[in-house]
Amino acid sequence: MKIRVLDILEQTMADGPGFRTSIYCAGCAHACEGCHNPQSWDFKGGKEMEVDDLVEVVAADELSNVTFSGGDPLYQVEAFTELARKIKERTGKNIWCYTGFTYEEILANERLSQILPYIDTLVEGPFILSLRDTSLRFRGSSNQRIIHLTPQEEEEIPGTVKLREYR
Ligand code: SF4
Repeated sequence: MKIRVLDILEQTMADGPGFRTSIYCAGCAHACEGCHNPQSWDFKGGKEMEVDDLVEVVAADELSNVTFSGGDPLYQVEAFTELARKIKERTGKNIWCYTGFTYEEILANERLSQILPYIDTLVEGPFILSLRDTSLRFRGSSNQRIIHLTPQEEEEIPGTVKLREYR
């Protein structure tokens, strides 16, 4: 299975706690006003990469955890689910996933929710320009929530919603 990848940042600290390998995918249809990265909206942007090759990139860095971002990874949810599952099986690394869908929208959609069992933390919801807050960590507007789906997170982040009983 393939993912359209815009960029891969290694050992970044911008997309979650600690060092992370961030995989930025192409394609987003949320069209948030004030989006920081409108060039990521094109579903034909970037280049296709095999999931197994992305697993190799992630596994090669023993130190870093992983973040999926975009674009919106949930528009390629089948491939990202396979990627997350393989990363977990191979490395057990912590995985954060950014999405413009809300947690409630994901839960209500069988296709979108298939990825949840492999994600540790979801950063969810559209960017809302009127709620923009540059003091927030790891998110752009105050409606967006950092939702821990597993008890693996060690760092307490203000504004975090904990749903540890999820599985
Ligand atoms: S979800 Fe993210 S990438 Fe998509 S339009 Fe909104 S801010 Fe931009």
